[in-house]
Amino acid sequence: VGLLRTEFMFEASTVEPSIEEQFEAFKSIAEPLADRTLIIRTADIGGDKPVSWLNMPKEENPFLGVRGIRLSLRNEAMLRNQLSAIYKTSLWQQAQGIKSGIHIMFPMIATLAEWQKAKAIAEQVRIELGATYLPLGIMIEIPSAALLADHFAKEVDFFSIGSNDLTQYTLAMDRLHPSLAAEADSYTPALLRLIHMTTKAAEANGKWVGVCGNMAADPNMAAILVGLGVTELSVSPANVPAVKYFIRSISYQKLKQKSQLALTKSCAAEVHELYENRDELV
Ligand code: PEP
Ligand code: MG
Repeated sequence: VGLLRTEFMFEASTVEPSIEEQFEAFKSIAEPLADRTLIIRTADIGGDKPVSWLNMPKEENPFLGVRGIRLSLRNEAMLRNQLSAIYKTSLWQQAQGIKSGIHIMFPMIATLAEWQKAKAIAEQVRIELGATYLPLGIMIEIPSAALLADHFAKEVDFFSIGSNDLTQYTLAMDRLHPSLAAEADSYTPALLRLIHMTTKAAEANGKWVGVCGNMAADPNMAAILVGLGVTELSVSPANVPAVKYFIRSISYQKLKQKSQLALTKSCAAEVHELYENRDELV
């Protein structure tokens, strides 16, 4: 599981789910996965995802407002409860003799201070519960995080690119806007350059980069991403075969060359054109 959107559990409830309820939910997901990777993202509330039981004043620009980690840091007890449930799940795995594959990921990180605060809280909760260390990573979905990736890469265990929001914030186009949908194109070289900055910084620091936004579900785009140095793609199950099949049919050398070429293009249309002829790519 490359992205567990925990806010769904919060949205569906009329009160804050208890630690026990959250633990039970995580356990039911972790159990069939055994030791395989489960990336649990702390609640990304706000933006288009309101929660009735939190006091959330109406905002003029909710996508630029108190969202994701900003909201969690302002509701620290909620964040601590969520982290407790996650570490309890890893303790339960340990008791079953299973090596935990759980990773914790923070959404909407814009500054190092936010990450450092979130990490400090996670470590406090973990130590209080006597749990073993779990990898801690951040979403790269705000341009400032990609631009500062060299700093972040020294401190985090992994990055996961949220292409839905990174596209939205790079192009300043609302991801839900009906008449901008066609223009909010993830093939824009501006986005590819931010992703490349991220993979370069990660590689220099021995960290890995995944993509958990929708762009990874498009086989051509997946080819670009792998060529840029992304090593983990999270897509919905229905998209897995097509992406796997396509990536496996092309040499890694070719993927890298083509992605380098994509970085030199000036607009999304030129990048689309580059990947139009699949025969040439394979
Ligand atoms: C993203 O922004 O690409 C992402 C994966 O997060 P969400 O879609 O939940 O905002
Ligand atoms: Mg997002």
